[in-house]
Amino acid sequence: MNPKRHRINFEKKLIDKDALKVLKVLHKAKFEAYLVGGCIRDLLLGKIPKDFDIATNATPEQVHKLFKRSRLIGRRFPIVHIMFSARKYIEVATFRAPHNHINKGGVVRDNHYGTLKEDVLRRDFTVNALYYDTNKFQVIDFVDGLSAINECKICMIGNPINRFEEDPVRMLRAIRFEVNLEAKLDSEISKSISKKKHLLSNIPPARLYDECVKLFHNEKSYRVFERLSETGLLKFLFQQTNDSKFIQKALNNTSERLKNNKSVTPAFLFSVFLWDSQNKYFDKLKKRNKSNFIAMNQASEEVIRRQVKQVLMPKWLSARVKDIWMMQHQLEKCSSKKVADLIANPRFRMAYDFLVLRSQSINPELSDRAKYWTQIQK
Ligand code: ATP
Ligand code: MG
Repeated sequence: MNPKRHRINFEKKLIDKDALKVLKVLHKAKFEAYLVGGCIRDLLLGKIPKDFDIATNATPEQVHKLFKRSRLIGRRFPIVHIMFSARKYIEVATFRAPHNHINKGGVVRDNHYGTLKEDVLRRDFTVNALYYDTNKFQVIDFVDGLSAINECKICMIGNPINRFEEDPVRMLRAIRFEVNLEAKLDSEISKSISKKKHLLSNIPPARLYDECVKLFHNEKSYRVFERLSETGLLKFLFQQTNDSKFIQKALNNTSERLKNNKSVTPAFLFSVFLWDSQNKYFDKLKKRNKSNFIAMNQASEEVIRRQVKQVLMPKWLSARVKDIWMMQHQLEKCSSKKVADLIANPRFRMAYDFLVLRSQSINPELSDRAKYWTQIQK
């Protein structure tokens, strides 16, 4: 397997300066090091990359020694974060070999580090497996990733069934890239998703939480939701959630906010996804003559309890979700005496946004109420 090398001169200003600094240090120390993955894919597609990752033949310890402000992350496959500010770091990963790598002599190697050629094969899709040599201005392509980018196709490296068995999260990544890159999923990938989707239930809820934020905090959030429903993957993330006008409205609103550089929070996603279930459970409890407050509280706790079996909701997040829900009743029925208190509540803004979206979708009868809260803030 020899790579194709394509000379492509990306504008220097498009490449992160700190990533270039890291590459320079690694090259000076005579290591091989490339930009890799999503950043090259996005640069080729004319998008602005979210992060710039580096792959190298230097071991994590060697990288760590070269950079004062760096730290080793993870145990089984340690990678290095090189810190440039409190929030900004560049991730450097050592080339990785396949499991049970056997050397030419038939000896099982005790480390899992490999060569560039081997590193390619552990990546998920061909569009994500391009490397960029910043000295020669060349894209290094072992798997026809460049043509997949040009043809807008998501193809798996290797057999999709095996690769999904190895890591079921790749199924979610496939959908995320299909939608966000407006690409076509290879038919083998689609078929394999329908066979292997149940494996998502083996993934730790904490990992799925991170993945869910990526799935829905983007400019095509609702389309991702639709594709997850169609493929049957949604049930393995949000068993209690069904499509609705409210979800459509809320996810489109999230995408709009991101386009306008406004802040978004996963608390909003979860409160929207679980609202319908929470309501149904609330009605059931009300029929048992519980007070509004008690019914609301119990319904919220139960729905959250079921949810966290699939996708983790950190404590701060479930508390916020509950606040948004509890405040709906207050916003619907608040007496004028309590208006100032409610507006002063730090969760008011989220609860108000939630009410507005309900009034614009499933609860048109709340339009006047929503207008009232809009007016009163002016
Ligand atoms: P994004 O735009 O979301 O950052 P990305 O492709 O850069 O997309 P990352 O999660 O940043 O995604 O991962 C960087 C690279 O690591 C990917 O491009 C891919 O090559 C590889 N990778 C990430 N997750 C997996 C996985 N689960 N299986 C195989 N390879 C993966
Ligand atoms: Mg990335």
